[in-house]
Amino acid sequence: MPFTQRVSQVTPSITLEITAKAKALRSQGIDVCSFTAGEPDFATPAHIVAAAKLALDQGKTKYGPAAGEPALRQAIAEKLQRDNQLPYEVPNVMVTNGGKHSLFNLMLAMIEAGDEVIIPAPYWLSYPEMVKLAEGQPVIVPTTAATNYKITPEQLRQTLTPRTKLFILNSPSNPTGTVYTPSEIRALAEVVIEAGIWVVSDEIYEKILYDGAEHLSIGAVSSEAFARTIISNGFAKSYSMTGWRVGYLAGPRDLIEACSTIQGHSTSNVCTFAQYGAIAALTDSQDCVQEMVRAFAERRQVMVAGINQTPRLSCATPMGAFYVFVDVSQTGLNSLAFTQALLEQQQVAVIPGAAFGDDHCIRLSYATDLSTIQQGLERIHHFVESL
Ligand code: PLP
Repeated sequence: MPFTQRVSQVTPSITLEITAKAKALRSQGIDVCSFTAGEPDFATPAHIVAAAKLALDQGKTKYGPAAGEPALRQAIAEKLQRDNQLPYEVPNVMVTNGGKHSLFNLMLAMIEAGDEVIIPAPYWLSYPEMVKLAEGQPVIVPTTAATNYKITPEQLRQTLTPRTKLFILNSPSNPTGTVYTPSEIRALAEVVIEAGIWVVSDEIYEKILYDGAEHLSIGAVSSEAFARTIISNGFAKSYSMTGWRVGYLAGPRDLIEACSTIQGHSTSNVCTFAQYGAIAALTDSQDCVQEMVRAFAERRQVMVAGINQTPRLSCATPMGAFYVFVDVSQTGLNSLAFTQALLEQQQVAVIPGAAFGDDHCIRLSYATDLSTIQQGLERIHHFVESL
Protein backbone atom coordinates (compact mmCIF):
# COMPACT_ATOMS: atom_id res chain seq x y z
CA MET A 1 0.00 0.00 0.00
CA PRO A 2 1.44 3.44 -0.80
CA PHE A 3 1.88 5.47 2.37
CA THR A 4 2.08 9.22 2.76
CA GLN A 5 5.31 11.08 2.17
CA ARG A 6 4.99 12.17 5.81
CA VAL A 7 5.30 8.69 7.21
CA SER A 8 7.68 7.27 4.63
CA GLN A 9 10.50 9.59 5.73
CA VAL A 10 10.28 8.49 9.35
CA THR A 11 12.87 5.92 10.44
CA PRO A 12 11.70 2.86 12.36
CA SER A 13 13.08 2.79 15.89
CA ILE A 14 16.48 1.05 16.23
CA THR A 15 15.78 0.85 19.96
CA LEU A 16 12.73 -1.33 19.37
CA GLU A 17 14.68 -3.53 16.95
CA ILE A 18 17.48 -4.21 19.46
CA THR A 19 15.01 -4.73 22.29
CA ALA A 20 13.10 -7.25 20.14
CA LYS A 21 16.34 -9.13 19.34
CA ALA A 22 17.29 -9.25 23.02
CA LYS A 23 13.80 -10.55 23.87
CA ALA A 24 14.02 -13.22 21.17
CA LEU A 25 17.34 -14.44 22.64
CA ARG A 26 15.80 -14.49 26.12
CA SER A 27 12.84 -16.53 24.88
CA GLN A 28 15.35 -19.13 23.68
CA GLY A 29 16.52 -19.39 27.29
CA ILE A 30 19.69 -17.32 26.70
CA ASP A 31 20.81 -15.12 29.58
CA VAL A 32 20.91 -11.55 28.19
CA CYS A 33 22.24 -8.53 30.11
CA SER A 34 20.15 -5.64 28.89
CA PHE A 35 21.10 -1.99 29.19
CA THR A 36 18.54 -0.79 26.70
CA ALA A 37 15.64 0.27 28.90
CA GLY A 38 14.86 3.95 29.21
CA GLU A 39 12.82 3.25 32.32
CA PRO A 40 13.48 2.93 36.04
CA ASP A 41 13.37 -0.68 37.24
CA PHE A 42 11.55 0.30 40.48
CA ALA A 43 7.86 -0.25 41.14
CA THR A 44 5.72 2.89 41.08
CA PRO A 45 5.70 4.21 44.68
CA ALA A 46 2.87 2.67 46.72
CA HIS A 47 1.17 5.97 47.64
CA ILE A 48 0.81 6.84 43.93
CA VAL A 49 -0.68 3.43 43.15
CA ALA A 50 -3.02 3.80 46.14
CA ALA A 51 -4.28 7.19 44.88
CA ALA A 52 -5.10 5.70 41.46
CA LYS A 53 -6.83 2.72 43.11
CA LEU A 54 -8.90 5.07 45.22
CA ALA A 55 -9.85 7.04 42.11
CA LEU A 56 -11.00 3.79 40.50
CA ASP A 57 -13.06 2.92 43.58
CA GLN A 58 -14.56 6.40 43.51
CA GLY A 59 -15.70 5.87 39.92
CA LYS A 60 -13.23 8.20 38.23
CA THR A 61 -13.51 6.07 35.13
CA LYS A 62 -15.31 8.39 32.73
CA TYR A 63 -14.27 10.84 30.03
CA GLY A 64 -12.73 14.01 31.41
CA PRO A 65 -11.69 17.39 30.00
CA ALA A 66 -9.25 17.04 27.05
CA ALA A 67 -6.68 19.30 28.73
CA GLY A 68 -6.70 17.25 31.94
CA GLU A 69 -8.37 17.01 35.34
CA PRO A 70 -8.51 20.53 36.83
CA ALA A 71 -6.90 19.32 40.08
CA LEU A 72 -3.92 17.89 38.21
CA ARG A 73 -3.50 21.01 36.07
CA GLN A 74 -3.52 23.03 39.29
CA ALA A 75 -0.91 20.74 40.92
CA ILE A 76 1.31 21.01 37.83
CA ALA A 77 1.04 24.82 37.74
CA GLU A 78 1.99 24.93 41.43
CA LYS A 79 4.90 22.56 40.86
CA LEU A 80 6.22 24.73 38.00
CA GLN A 81 5.97 27.83 40.19
CA ARG A 82 7.52 26.16 43.25
CA ASP A 83 10.27 23.97 41.73
CA ASN A 84 11.11 25.86 38.56
CA GLN A 85 10.24 29.50 39.26
CA LEU A 86 7.95 29.55 36.21
CA PRO A 87 4.84 31.69 36.79
CA TYR A 88 2.38 29.43 34.98
CA GLU A 89 -1.32 29.36 35.85
CA VAL A 90 -3.81 26.58 35.11
CA PRO A 91 -4.67 27.81 31.56
CA ASN A 92 -0.96 27.58 30.69
CA VAL A 93 -0.85 23.85 31.46
CA MET A 94 -2.27 20.72 29.85
CA VAL A 95 -2.01 17.03 30.73
CA THR A 96 -0.83 14.73 27.93
CA ASN A 97 -0.27 11.02 27.34
CA GLY A 98 3.37 11.28 28.42
CA GLY A 99 6.23 13.61 27.57
CA LYS A 100 6.41 12.17 24.07
CA HIS A 101 2.82 13.15 23.41
CA SER A 102 3.42 16.67 24.80
CA LEU A 103 6.12 17.20 22.21
CA PHE A 104 4.07 15.66 19.43
CA ASN A 105 1.12 17.95 20.19
CA LEU A 106 3.50 20.89 20.22
CA MET A 107 5.02 20.03 16.83
CA LEU A 108 1.59 19.67 15.25
CA ALA A 109 0.43 22.99 16.68
CA MET A 110 3.57 25.00 15.98
CA ILE A 111 5.44 23.69 12.95
CA GLU A 112 4.48 24.69 9.42
CA ALA A 113 5.82 22.81 6.38
CA GLY A 114 9.47 23.79 5.95
CA ASP A 115 9.93 25.38 9.40
CA GLU A 116 13.35 24.58 10.82
CA VAL A 117 13.78 23.03 14.25
CA ILE A 118 17.26 23.07 15.80
CA ILE A 119 18.20 19.82 17.53
CA PRO A 120 21.61 19.37 19.15
CA ALA A 121 23.04 15.86 18.56
CA PRO A 122 23.24 13.43 20.26
CA TYR A 123 19.48 13.78 20.66
CA TRP A 124 16.58 11.75 21.96
CA LEU A 125 15.68 9.75 18.90
CA SER A 126 12.05 10.85 18.59
CA TYR A 127 12.79 14.58 18.17
CA PRO A 128 13.75 14.57 14.46
CA GLU A 129 11.04 12.06 13.59
CA MET A 130 8.35 14.17 15.26
CA VAL A 131 9.53 17.25 13.41
CA LYS A 132 9.37 15.31 10.12
CA LEU A 133 5.87 14.03 10.90
CA ALA A 134 4.84 17.67 11.32
CA GLU A 135 6.47 18.36 7.92
CA GLY A 136 9.16 20.52 9.47
CA GLN A 137 12.87 20.38 8.81
CA PRO A 138 15.09 19.02 11.61
CA VAL A 139 18.41 20.91 11.69
CA ILE A 140 20.89 18.73 13.53
CA VAL A 141 23.81 20.44 15.28
CA PRO A 142 26.55 17.95 16.14
CA THR A 143 28.25 18.30 19.52
CA THR A 144 31.19 16.30 20.86
CA ALA A 145 32.65 15.01 24.11
CA ALA A 146 34.95 18.05 24.05
CA THR A 147 32.01 20.33 25.01
CA ASN A 148 30.42 17.59 27.11
CA TYR A 149 27.89 17.14 24.30
CA LYS A 150 26.47 20.63 24.82
CA ILE A 151 25.52 23.06 22.08
CA THR A 152 27.32 26.37 22.54
CA PRO A 153 25.61 29.77 22.13
CA GLU A 154 27.85 30.38 19.08
CA GLN A 155 26.73 27.14 17.46
CA LEU A 156 23.11 28.00 18.11
CA ARG A 157 23.58 31.48 16.66
CA GLN A 158 25.33 30.14 13.55
CA THR A 159 22.53 27.67 12.89
CA LEU A 160 19.76 30.28 12.84
CA THR A 161 18.06 31.09 9.55
CA PRO A 162 14.91 33.07 8.77
CA ARG A 163 13.07 29.71 8.82
CA THR A 164 14.16 28.76 12.33
CA LYS A 165 11.07 28.32 14.50
CA LEU A 166 12.07 26.20 17.46
CA PHE A 167 15.11 25.00 19.41
CA ILE A 168 14.86 21.74 21.38
CA LEU A 169 16.79 21.76 24.64
CA ASN A 170 17.03 18.61 26.76
CA SER A 171 18.81 18.87 30.09
CA PRO A 172 19.53 16.45 31.74
CA SER A 173 20.01 14.75 28.40
CA ASN A 174 19.06 11.43 26.99
CA PRO A 175 21.38 9.86 25.73
CA THR A 176 24.43 11.58 27.28
CA GLY A 177 23.38 12.42 30.85
CA THR A 178 24.80 15.91 30.30
CA VAL A 179 23.38 18.76 32.40
CA TYR A 180 23.73 22.37 31.27
CA THR A 181 24.92 24.66 34.05
CA PRO A 182 22.78 27.70 34.96
CA SER A 183 25.26 30.03 33.26
CA GLU A 184 25.18 27.94 30.07
CA ILE A 185 21.38 28.05 30.14
CA ARG A 186 21.46 31.85 30.55
CA ALA A 187 23.79 32.19 27.56
CA LEU A 188 21.50 30.06 25.38
CA ALA A 189 18.48 32.06 26.55
CA GLU A 190 20.14 35.24 25.29
CA VAL A 191 20.42 33.78 21.78
CA VAL A 192 16.80 32.59 21.84
CA ILE A 193 15.58 36.04 22.86
CA GLU A 194 17.78 37.89 20.35
CA ALA A 195 16.62 35.61 17.55
CA GLY A 196 12.96 35.69 18.55
CA ILE A 197 12.65 31.92 18.18
CA TRP A 198 10.90 29.47 20.52
CA VAL A 199 12.60 27.01 22.81
CA VAL A 200 11.03 23.83 24.09
CA SER A 201 12.73 22.60 27.22
CA ASP A 202 12.30 18.86 27.68
CA GLU A 203 12.75 18.52 31.44
CA ILE A 204 11.70 14.92 31.91
CA TYR A 205 14.94 14.04 33.79
CA GLU A 206 15.07 17.25 35.88
CA LYS A 207 14.90 15.41 39.21
CA ILE A 208 17.60 12.86 38.38
CA LEU A 209 20.75 14.83 39.16
CA TYR A 210 24.09 13.88 40.78
CA ASP A 211 26.99 15.47 42.62
CA GLY A 212 25.12 18.71 43.32
CA ALA A 213 24.29 19.41 39.65
CA GLU A 214 21.68 22.14 39.35
CA HIS A 215 18.74 22.26 36.96
CA LEU A 216 17.75 25.71 35.73
CA SER A 217 14.71 25.89 33.53
CA ILE A 218 15.46 28.24 30.61
CA GLY A 219 12.09 29.97 31.14
CA ALA A 220 13.23 31.05 34.62
CA VAL A 221 16.15 33.10 33.27
CA SER A 222 14.09 36.27 32.65
CA SER A 223 10.59 37.38 31.69
CA GLU A 224 11.80 37.65 28.06
CA ALA A 225 13.04 34.05 28.16
CA PHE A 226 9.80 32.93 29.82
CA ALA A 227 7.82 34.45 26.96
CA ARG A 228 9.73 32.29 24.41
CA THR A 229 9.68 29.03 26.43
CA ILE A 230 7.55 25.92 26.32
CA ILE A 231 8.04 23.18 28.92
CA SER A 232 7.58 19.47 28.28
CA ASN A 233 7.71 17.14 31.23
CA GLY A 234 6.15 13.96 32.59
CA PHE A 235 5.90 11.50 35.44
CA ALA A 236 7.56 8.49 33.78
CA LYS A 237 11.15 8.91 34.88
CA SER A 238 11.04 10.76 38.23
CA TYR A 239 8.22 8.66 39.69
CA SER A 240 8.79 5.39 37.84
CA MET A 241 5.44 5.74 36.05
CA THR A 242 6.46 4.85 32.49
CA GLY A 243 3.39 2.76 31.74
CA TRP A 244 0.92 5.26 33.19
CA ARG A 245 1.32 7.59 30.25
CA VAL A 246 0.96 10.92 31.99
CA GLY A 247 2.94 14.00 30.99
CA TYR A 248 2.38 17.69 30.57
CA LEU A 249 3.02 20.69 28.39
CA ALA A 250 3.20 24.27 29.68
CA GLY A 251 3.45 27.46 27.69
CA PRO A 252 1.53 30.45 26.40
CA ARG A 253 -2.23 30.13 26.83
CA ASP A 254 -3.06 30.20 23.10
CA LEU A 255 -0.54 27.44 22.39
CA ILE A 256 -2.04 25.27 25.16
CA GLU A 257 -5.52 25.91 23.74
CA ALA A 258 -4.33 24.87 20.26
CA CYS A 259 -2.66 21.72 21.64
CA SER A 260 -5.80 20.89 23.65
CA THR A 261 -7.84 21.14 20.45
CA ILE A 262 -5.46 18.69 18.74
CA GLN A 263 -5.66 16.38 21.75
CA GLY A 264 -9.44 16.71 21.85
CA HIS A 265 -9.64 15.32 18.29
CA SER A 266 -6.93 12.69 18.64
CA THR A 267 -6.62 11.00 22.03
CA SER A 268 -9.12 12.96 24.19
CA ASN A 269 -8.31 13.03 27.87
CA VAL A 270 -5.48 11.10 29.50
CA CYS A 271 -6.69 8.04 31.47
CA THR A 272 -8.74 9.65 34.23
CA PHE A 273 -7.70 7.52 37.22
CA ALA A 274 -4.03 7.64 36.17
CA GLN A 275 -4.22 11.42 36.55
CA TYR A 276 -5.16 10.94 40.23
CA GLY A 277 -1.97 8.95 40.73
CA ALA A 278 -0.07 11.86 39.15
CA ILE A 279 -1.68 14.32 41.60
CA ALA A 280 -0.40 12.20 44.50
CA ALA A 281 3.05 12.09 42.88
CA LEU A 282 3.26 15.88 42.86
CA THR A 283 1.54 16.72 46.12
CA ASP A 284 2.82 13.99 48.49
CA SER A 285 6.32 13.47 49.86
CA GLN A 286 9.17 13.53 47.34
CA ASP A 287 11.25 11.04 49.37
CA CYS A 288 10.54 8.31 46.82
CA VAL A 289 12.29 10.36 44.13
CA GLN A 290 15.34 10.86 46.33
CA GLU A 291 15.51 7.13 47.11
CA MET A 292 15.54 6.25 43.43
CA VAL A 293 18.15 8.90 42.68
CA ARG A 294 20.38 7.47 45.45
CA ALA A 295 20.16 4.02 43.87
CA PHE A 296 20.93 5.42 40.41
CA ALA A 297 23.91 7.32 41.83
CA GLU A 298 25.45 4.12 43.20
CA ARG A 299 24.92 2.27 39.92
CA ARG A 300 26.35 5.20 37.99
CA GLN A 301 29.65 4.95 39.91
CA VAL A 302 29.97 1.24 39.15
CA MET A 303 29.05 1.71 35.50
CA VAL A 304 31.37 4.65 34.83
CA ALA A 305 34.32 3.01 36.63
CA GLY A 306 33.79 -0.30 34.79
CA ILE A 307 33.60 1.36 31.37
CA ASN A 308 36.66 3.52 31.92
CA GLN A 309 38.64 0.49 33.14
CA THR A 310 37.93 -1.23 29.83
CA PRO A 311 40.69 -0.57 27.31
CA ARG A 312 39.54 1.38 24.21
CA LEU A 313 36.25 2.45 25.83
CA SER A 314 35.63 5.75 27.55
CA CYS A 315 32.74 7.76 28.90
CA ALA A 316 32.26 11.00 30.76
CA THR A 317 30.60 10.90 34.16
CA PRO A 318 26.95 11.78 33.54
CA MET A 319 25.54 14.48 35.81
CA GLY A 320 21.90 13.53 35.31
CA ALA A 321 19.39 11.00 33.89
CA PHE A 322 20.39 7.28 33.98
CA TYR A 323 22.49 6.74 30.88
CA VAL A 324 26.17 6.58 30.02
CA PHE A 325 27.27 7.46 26.51
CA VAL A 326 30.33 5.38 25.72
CA ASP A 327 32.83 6.20 22.99
CA VAL A 328 33.64 2.97 21.13
CA SER A 329 35.58 4.54 18.24
CA GLN A 330 38.93 3.21 19.49
CA THR A 331 37.71 -0.33 18.84
CA GLY A 332 37.51 0.40 15.11
CA LEU A 333 33.81 -0.52 15.04
CA ASN A 334 30.96 1.84 14.39
CA SER A 335 28.09 1.88 16.85
CA LEU A 336 25.85 -0.54 14.94
CA ALA A 337 28.59 -3.11 14.30
CA PHE A 338 29.68 -2.89 17.95
CA THR A 339 26.12 -3.31 19.21
CA GLN A 340 25.32 -6.26 16.95
CA ALA A 341 28.57 -8.13 17.69
CA LEU A 342 28.25 -7.49 21.44
CA LEU A 343 24.75 -8.94 21.47
CA GLU A 344 25.68 -11.96 19.38
CA GLN A 345 28.98 -12.78 21.10
CA GLN A 346 28.36 -11.80 24.72
CA GLN A 347 24.58 -11.41 24.93
CA VAL A 348 24.75 -7.80 26.11
CA ALA A 349 22.10 -5.47 24.69
CA VAL A 350 22.93 -1.76 24.30
CA ILE A 351 21.66 0.99 21.99
CA PRO A 352 23.88 2.13 19.11
CA GLY A 353 24.66 5.84 19.12
CA ALA A 354 23.58 6.02 15.46
CA ALA A 355 20.02 6.06 16.80
CA PHE A 356 20.84 9.34 18.56
CA GLY A 357 22.85 10.91 15.74
CA ASP A 358 26.35 9.82 16.89
CA ASP A 359 27.85 6.71 15.35
CA HIS A 360 31.00 6.72 17.56
CA CYS A 361 29.16 5.88 20.74
CA ILE A 362 26.75 3.45 22.38
CA ARG A 363 24.21 4.18 25.11
CA LEU A 364 23.88 2.08 28.22
CA SER A 365 21.07 2.60 30.69
CA TYR A 366 21.95 1.92 34.33
CA ALA A 367 18.31 1.81 35.37
CA THR A 368 18.88 -1.83 36.17
CA ASP A 369 20.15 -3.81 39.17
CA LEU A 370 23.79 -3.78 40.26
CA SER A 371 24.40 -7.46 39.60
CA THR A 372 23.30 -7.11 35.95
CA ILE A 373 25.57 -4.07 35.68
CA GLN A 374 28.54 -5.98 37.11
CA GLN A 375 27.96 -9.03 34.94
CA GLY A 376 27.38 -6.91 31.84
CA LEU A 377 30.57 -4.95 32.41
CA GLU A 378 32.58 -8.19 32.64
CA ARG A 379 31.10 -9.38 29.37
CA ILE A 380 31.79 -6.04 27.67
CA HIS A 381 35.39 -6.27 28.90
CA HIS A 382 35.78 -9.76 27.38
CA PHE A 383 34.16 -8.62 24.16
CA VAL A 384 36.49 -5.63 23.70
CA GLU A 385 39.54 -7.77 24.57
CA SER A 386 38.54 -10.29 21.92
CA LEU A 387 38.44 -7.71 19.12
N1 PLP B 1 11.96 13.04 26.47
C1 PLP B 1 13.05 12.28 26.66
C2 PLP B 1 14.38 12.93 26.56
C3 PLP B 1 12.93 10.91 26.92
O1 PLP B 1 14.02 10.17 27.13
C4 PLP B 1 11.63 10.34 26.99
C5 PLP B 1 11.46 8.89 27.20
O2 PLP B 1 12.33 8.09 27.00
C6 PLP B 1 10.53 11.18 26.80
C7 PLP B 1 10.72 12.53 26.55
C8 PLP B 1 9.11 10.68 26.82
O3 PLP B 1 8.72 10.12 27.98
P1 PLP B 1 7.22 9.65 28.24
O4 PLP B 1 6.47 9.80 26.95
O5 PLP B 1 7.33 8.22 28.66
O6 PLP B 1 6.68 10.53 29.31
